[in-house]
Amino acid sequence: MKILKIDHIGIAVRHLDESKKFWTDVLGLEFSGSETVEDQKVTTGFFSVGESEVELLESTASDGPVARYLKKKGEGIHHVAFRVENIQAALEELKAKGIKLIDEKPRKGAGGAKIAFVHPESTNGILVELCER
Ligand code: ZN
Repeated sequence: MKILKIDHIGIAVRHLDESKKFWTDVLGLEFSGSETVEDQKVTTGFFSVGESEVELLESTASDGPVARYLKKKGEGIHHVAFRVENIQAALEELKAKGIKLIDEKPRKGAGGAKIAFVHPESTNGILVELCER
């Protein structure tokens, strides 16, 4: 598989609007917009950092994956996303290597990207997202 770069780092927050201030007002990053992804029950907010981005994630439902994460661990780094050239091929390669996947097939993420998550049991405890744009 070909990993092109760290696409973004996903950070779980309780309140996107409040959290945004640190990234824009304090760090001076540019806010590139927010988007709700119904499928994952989150509203995302992106900030450009050179060739990568920071993605803040606020849950839209109390039973969503980010809400569950916040209850268990509190705010913090939720996932690291690698941009790959071909997500389908990457998933097949990981599967063949015995890696536990959360998504066996790509689904639609923010910004029209194709995304899939790799299970933390296979990645030293980090939720890894693969994304193809
Ligand atoms: Zn992400």
